[in-house]
Amino acid sequence: MKEHIHTIPVIDALREPGHCPFCKIYDKLEADSIDFIMGPSLSYMTESVRDETNEAGFCEEHLRKLYAVQNRLGLALMLHTHFKYVQKNMESGKIADIGSGLFKKGETQAERTAKKITAFQNRCYICEKINGTFLRYMDTFFYLWPRDSNIKPLVKALPGFCLPHYAAMLSMAEKSLGKKHLDDFLGVVVPLQKAAMEQLEGDMDWFIQKFDYRNNDAPWKNSKDAINRTMAMLKGAIIE
Ligand SMILES: [Zn+2]
Ligand SMILES: [Zn+2]
Repeated sequence: MKEHIHTIPVIDALREPGHCPFCKIYDKLEADSIDFIMGPSLSYMTESVRDETNEAGFCEEHLRKLYAVQNRLGLALMLHTHFKYVQKNMESGKIADIGSGLFKKGETQAERTAKKITAFQNRCYICEKINGTFLRYMDTFFYLWPRDSNIKPLVKALPGFCLPHYAAMLSMAEKSLGKKHLDDFLGVVVPLQKAAMEQLEGDMDWFIQKFDYRNNDAPWKNSKDAINRTMAMLKGAIIE
């Protein structure tokens, strides 16, 4: 079988036990992106990277993660030039920088400024960097599905997917697989996800029942981390 550039990380994520494999890929891409900017290569000092961080800025979650790296000078330098970029664009009345077709005739200056600020809020250098690569990994998964006989048993052994990645996977499956392979794929993942959600709902139910004093001495079964697993399935966020 022809090697695809992302084949090995996809298979590794499917083999790793526990949780959604696409979350593992996402987390790895996110860690690599943060390391790329703030790590030893100091990419934030590179003009091309800084131009991009100046324009896009960062979402709230990635600001928190950059702050956690403890490179205060690096973060200050990036935020300073991004801040100046935002400031300049808010004042200049120049609209081309953050997307054409953004404004309508007859809008007040206040409305335009509000739209510009919102447009900045919707961008993040790290999210944008991850998303393009992440889609290529998902694409590789569907390239492998009909071609690599190891994939199906690995998928069958998974504990389900988080709902955001399950939805992304279903919509990409429609576009990526022909009728025969699509039916085969859905025949595996739909019952797998249903069973995973039923199991999790039961674990949450038992977690709640454990608060009843009559169940004080009953075993926790598989429900001790039910809240964390439910949050992870709903949003893909792993909260330890
Ligand atoms: Zn996921
Ligand atoms: Zn982000």
